[in-house]
Amino acid sequence: MSEKKIDESLLKSKGFLPQRQENMVSMRVRATGGRIDAEKLRAIADAAEKYGHGYIHITSRQGIEIPFVKLEEAEEASSELEKKGVLRGSSGKRVRAVVACQGNEVCRFGLIDCQQIANRITEKYVGETVPKKLKIAVTGCPSACVKPQDTDFGVMGTTKPQLISENCVGCKRCEKACKMEAIKVLDDKASIDREKCILCGLCIAACRKDALRAEKTGCTIFVGGKLGRKPGHGTKLLELADEGQLFSILEKTFEYYRREGLDGERLGDLFDRLGFEKYRKEVLP
Ligand code: SF4
Ligand code: SF4
Ligand code: SF4
Repeated sequence: MSEKKIDESLLKSKGFLPQRQENMVSMRVRATGGRIDAEKLRAIADAAEKYGHGYIHITSRQGIEIPFVKLEEAEEASSELEKKGVLRGSSGKRVRAVVACQGNEVCRFGLIDCQQIANRITEKYVGETVPKKLKIAVTGCPSACVKPQDTDFGVMGTTKPQLISENCVGCKRCEKACKMEAIKVLDDKASIDREKCILCGLCIAACRKDALRAEKTGCTIFVGGKLGRKPGHGTKLLELADEGQLFSILEKTFEYYRREGLDGERLGDLFDRLGFEKYRKEVLP
């Protein structure tokens, strides 16, 4: 490895991304789940004016960068921000910032608390070293706004509808609400085609007769997806996992990836090399 490469990897480990201009870095700061409070935002704005060119860049993964920070001032800028609670972003061969939508705290379609899950994952794993970068996305429902299928470890809120036939009056509100044609009303009674159902819960929200209830709500987990030069969709590992299962699988996934992954190998490429079944057997209870 060249001397320049070693320096770059050290800089990236601190959240400083070398720019094409010599001795300039784009300084990445942490914004878990795309959320950052107003006070921290002011501190970032002040730092951008003091150390950068007076603007910030919002990355494709909800991160914030302050471009045009002089390399010799980057540590000072970062320490100033840390004192105000703004932490360094993650880069290089590490667990990257967790992206998340607003989930059931804000979005009317949300089925899980994405921000809470993203914060919990961040506290435990973000910045940890892994064979290559590892990206995590938490999305609140099958609309999949933060693309959990295209990330190394994707979490998606889902809910399984349960039909209480004796309450059904055949009004067809559920049929109209379902975008998958998975629920049909015949002879004034609704029935669900489980093959077509994507567990979005829209029918439950539409029913006014308490004929549809959530039998179980949890997380569908996708693993091994990625974008970039060699993009690929992740594989669905489990549906309707509860939070305990989710964190157990996450922990086992890290163990597996660190133990079996080659230097520079993405999780999806590891599955391609050793087979998905080997991983699945190890992480599923
Ligand atoms: S994924 Fe669902 S819950 Fe999250 S923002 Fe999109 S529609 Fe809302
Ligand atoms: S919305 Fe409810 S009551 Fe109406 S058809 Fe569907 S399940 Fe039956
Ligand atoms: S959960 Fe969603 S996909 Fe399944 S039947 Fe209800 S509306 Fe259709």
